[in-house]
Amino acid sequence: MTESCVFCRIERGELPSDRVYEDDRVIAFRDINPQAPVHVLIIPRKHIASLADLTPGDTELAGHMLRVAQQLAEQLGIRETGYRVLTNCGRDGGQVVFHLHFHLVGGKPLGRFA
Ligand code: 5GP
Ligand code: ZN
Repeated sequence: MTESCVFCRIERGELPSDRVYEDDRVIAFRDINPQAPVHVLIIPRKHIASLADLTPGDTELAGHMLRVAQQLAEQLGIRETGYRVLTNCGRDGGQVVFHLHFHLVGGKPLGRFA
């Protein structure tokens, strides 16, 4: 599973990525097909397929991913202008890559979603 997972391969350095952050639990890199001037993906180093696959033991990790999103917004200069953090889950959620990731999007006004 993780052998062929594109984000596991990025995490292992087998595929190139434009990394903007890394620590012992997560990495973040720019989306290959950005939808806004800032479009970064924050992923756990360990393979978790989607939000639906989080377990109670992942609670701290999930919170850490949100804190990293907050810090990256500051680092990438969109703290004041605002941004959106989202995760697509499953078929109807439009998930394409089945390794959990939070999109951090900003740098332009985003259309209303909900
Ligand atoms: P989702 O699963 O959240 O619907 O979409 C996956 C996201 O990952 C898309 O925004 C897509 O552009 C991005 N993506 C897919 N493959 C790669 C890749 O190899 N490198 C990078 N940097 N982004 C990717
Ligand atoms: Zn993976």
